[in-house]
Amino acid sequence: MTHITSLDHIAIATKNLTESLDFFEKKLGLICTHIEELPERGIRVAMIPIGDTRIELIEALREDSEVSSFLQKRGPGVHHLAFATENIDHDMKTLKNQNLNFTNDAAKPGAHGAQVGFIHPKSAGGLLVELCEHKQTENQ
Ligand code: ZN
Repeated sequence: MTHITSLDHIAIATKNLTESLDFFEKKLGLICTHIEELPERGIRVAMIPIGDTRIELIEALREDSEVSSFLQKRGPGVHHLAFATENIDHDMKTLKNQNLNFTNDAAKPGAHGAQVGFIHPKSAGGLLVELCEHKQTENQ
């Protein structure tokens, strides 16, 4: 079994973060609470809370970012679903033992200081699935 607890966010790949934010904020009236650059992954992300979950907009900062090939192949749109887990190391190991493939071997840093792992779309019916564990409350 995994330690998945909730839908953490729905991620959307965009070619233009400013235009996407304009749609979600000015047209839909939602509010972006956080914008963060992840230079090691070549992306900039914007988080928009809605209900118990969030929308994560992802823009490429460079041509070889992890979202660039997705944008080239499939265009802008839903990029991945992310499930919050209470133990990402355990879940990655458990799922690998069930022959699911991950795009990263071990959990890596994501937005907000979370640890993240991505289940390969070939193991998830064509969908990219992220597991994320938020560590910030752990040592408090
Ligand atoms: Zn994500």
